[in-house]
Parts: sequence; C-alpha cells; structure tokens
Amino acid sequence: DVRVRFCPSPTGLPHVGLVRTALFNWAQARHTGGTFVFRIEDTDAARDSEQSFEQIIDALTWMGLDWDEGVLKGGPDEPYRQSQRGAIYQDVIARLTASGHLYESYMTAAEIEARNIAEGRAVQQGYGNWERDPEVRAAFRADDRQPALRLRVPDEDLSFDDLIRGPITFAAGSFPDFVVVRPGGQPLYTLVNPVDDALMRVTDVLRGEDLLPSTPRQIALYHALIDIGVAEWVPRFGHMPLVLGDGTKKLSKRDPESNLFLHRERGFIPEGLLNYLALLGWSIGPDRDVFSRAELAAAFDIRNVNPNPARFDLKKAEAINGDHIRLLDPDDLAARMVPYLQVRDVLPAEPTPDQLALLRELTPLVQERMQLLGQAPDLLASFFTTAADLVHAEDAVAGLPKNATEVLAAAEEALAASDDWSVDGVKAALEGALIDGLGLKPRVAFGPVRVATSGRRVSPPLFESLAILGADETLARIRKLRS
Ligand code: GLU
Repeated sequence: DVRVRFCPSPTGLPHVGLVRTALFNWAQARHTGGTFVFRIEDTDAARDSEQSFEQIIDALTWMGLDWDEGVLKGGPDEPYRQSQRGAIYQDVIARLTASGHLYESYMTAAEIEARNIAEGRAVQQGYGNWERDPEVRAAFRADDRQPALRLRVPDEDLSFDDLIRGPITFAAGSFPDFVVVRPGGQPLYTLVNPVDDALMRVTDVLRGEDLLPSTPRQIALYHALIDIGVAEWVPRFGHMPLVLGDGTKKLSKRDPESNLFLHRERGFIPEGLLNYLALLGWSIGPDRDVFSRAELAAAFDIRNVNPNPARFDLKKAEAINGDHIRLLDPDDLAARMVPYLQVRDVLPAEPTPDQLALLRELTPLVQERMQLLGQAPDLLASFFTTAADLVHAEDAVAGLPKNATEVLAAAEEALAASDDWSVDGVKAALEGALIDGLGLKPRVAFGPVRVATSGRRVSPPLFESLAILGADETLARIRKLRS
C-alpha cells in the first residue's frame, strides 16, 4: 500500500511550491488508493509559528486536500507534530549510538579547517571522518566539550531510482560523515525526517528538488535504521521540479505571486488554482488544460511528472480559473461572490433577500466574463446603487465620443417611449434609435449608454443589464450623465 506524506515546517505563509507538493502527494495517495499522512516539522522553535501552522491547515482545507492520518485527525502514529516527538528521537538516537552508527564528534569548524590545511586537503572537503578513531575522540573529549553526533556513512556508492528523474548515483566518499544531532542533543532534519518516515511506514517520499542533496544522506541513515529495526525499507523518492517565476529565477517565497492567500483574495477559486498548480510539472494529456480534482486524482501518476523546471504563469492561471468559474452552478457562484462584494462594500455584512435575489439574477451575466471573483465588485456595483448615488468613473466619461450627447438623447427618447422592458424590447428600442435612426455602427452605438447606466467602460451585457435595472433607473442614469 502506498503511503505518502506532506510534512511542512510552519515557518511562513503557505506558498505555491509548498501547496503543489501537498497536491501531488494527495493526488498520488488518491490515485493509488493509498494513505496521505500529514505531519508538521516544527523543530525550529525560533522560526516556527502557530499562525503559520493554522495557515497551512487553512490552505489545505480550502484546496480540498484531505488527509487520512496526521495533525488534527489523529492516527496510529501520534503525535504528528515533531515538537512533541522528542522522546521518540532520543530513543532512536540512543540505539543508533549503541550500535555504532552514530559517534560523538567534538571538533569545531575552525579545528576541521586547520586539520584540512595541515594535511594538505582542500578545505571544501570538510570533515575528514577523523573522530571515527576513538583515540582522536578521546583527545578532544578531555576539554569538557559537548559532542555532536555524526552518522558513520558506509563507504559505498548510494544509488536510487528517482520516480521523476530516473537513476541517480552518489559515488562513495562524495560526502563525509555528517552531524545528525547538535551539541546539546537537538536532532536535525536529516535525522528526524527519515525516522518519522520510517515509523510512519512511508513508501514514497515526494518532495521538492531543493531537497535532493539531502537524499543520499537520508538513504545512508535508512540503512542504519534498518539495521537497528526502526525502518523496514528505504522508501522510493521523487523530486518535483522547481517552480520558476519571471525569467529563469526560482519563484521566491517573497514574490507576491507565490503567496497562496493573495491568489485567494484576488478571487481564485480552489478548483481553478488546484488545476493550475497541478500543471506545474504535470499534464493530463495533450491539448487539455482544464480538469477537476477528481479527474486529477483519477489520472495522476508521479512517474509522469516532468523533471524540468515549471514556470508560474499568472495569466494562464487566471484563464484556467475563469474556465472553472464558468463550470460552477450559478447558485454556487452567486454565493461565492458575496464575500468579495462585501469587502468592497457593494453588499452589506447582512445582505437582504432582495439583494441576494438580484445577485442571483445577475450571476449569468458575469459568469461568462470573469476570471477572478475579485472582478465581481467592479462589474456589479452599479446594480446595487441608485441613480442618485451612482458615480460615473472619470476615465469612462473622459473617453466618451464627441456625439455622446446626441446618442444619449436618442437613447433616452426611445427607451422612454418603450413599454417593453424585456431584453429583446430594450434591444429593439436601442437598435432602432441608434443604429437605424442615427446610422451608427453597433461597435460605437452603445458605449455612451453603457457608461451612463453602469458608470464604467466595461460592464455586463448591456441589454440584459438594462432589463434588470428597469425603466426608472435606466432613464434616471441617462439623464444624470446628460445633465
Ligand atoms: N519539513 C521539510 C520542509 O518543509 C520537509 C522536507 C521533506 O519533504 O522531506 O522542507
């Protein structure tokens, strides 16, 4: 049975790369009928925060990425926060030390460098495994120093078959014995991450390419864990491609585009963002970009992830989000627009039933043209106000054609005379006055009416909008702009 895990360190806002990692683990679990474990790696008290923990939970919940075992959910391997697993690590460390896999190391960085120089070795080679020799250890121990613990790395090539990248080999001797426990006893990521993966029986470690350098070290540690009976196997590894921002730069956590919540605030819906994030390294098939969470789960295979860097393309993400907005049931879309309208004071905190009914009536008009829910206030504000309060945007007024006065006069006259306020009735009245009467081209005929009634250059479809506004409001708005 496949067991995958997502194990973020709660050190900041959830970013796009982190959520993509969660998404691919989730998809692999759901595709294989396996188990998705969610563990929190909060071993750095100085950088970890409870706020970040809650934001990560919020992000996964919002995206609909449910987990089977882990924080808040429980499971057979509790606790799921590394900050609460100290005793487990100390026990494993004691056993690794007793069995000779870990040894005490006293040398300081300065001493390591001096010894390299003295021996004519390149300084970059780092630690020379000198304290494997008990006599060397004893000499340093005399100083009453606190030792770190290093893993005795076997002198052999370390190979693995990366699920995304294929076979990778690190030649014997490519890295020295490394520290897994700090002086003072604090275990490091390189130790606790594999220990927990072993205890949680993880079969597939799917994580970012930035962690590839730690993989041979962790495989060396797995061999020791297998030897003492803590691990049963070395898991498979798959290293997901980098996510690039503009140019060839890695999308940095500080780039606004990497902030998941910013995308949510701008009006990405989870279906759309999830779809786009899945395209960062994966594809459902040629000529197909839009798919649902369930379709992703059905089709996903980590082996089909492309190892090449993936570019975060906000325009494409927005286009895909628009496609998902069009797929929503209109009732659902109306409900999802409400908070975005409230933030901009288009709707009050407690909308009235009439306001909600109006919003529902307007929804089909905007569903076709929105890419982000955050566009709803600009498109819809004019419907939730009255002619007296409507503000005609300066740029829209400044952009009116020279004949605008004439157009508005003709439009007002025709509409005032019309007693058919259906969409077709409005259309017939305006076309009769402006196209037949004034001889204008459709492309230029209706702009002034649109500005007059919506206050903006861009609005939902005009005839539908006027039918919803009704005769009194429409005429009052045209008169207001004319005066
Ligand atoms: N806590 C690590 C991180 O957030 C997890 C890395 C891993 O998946 O092994 O980078």
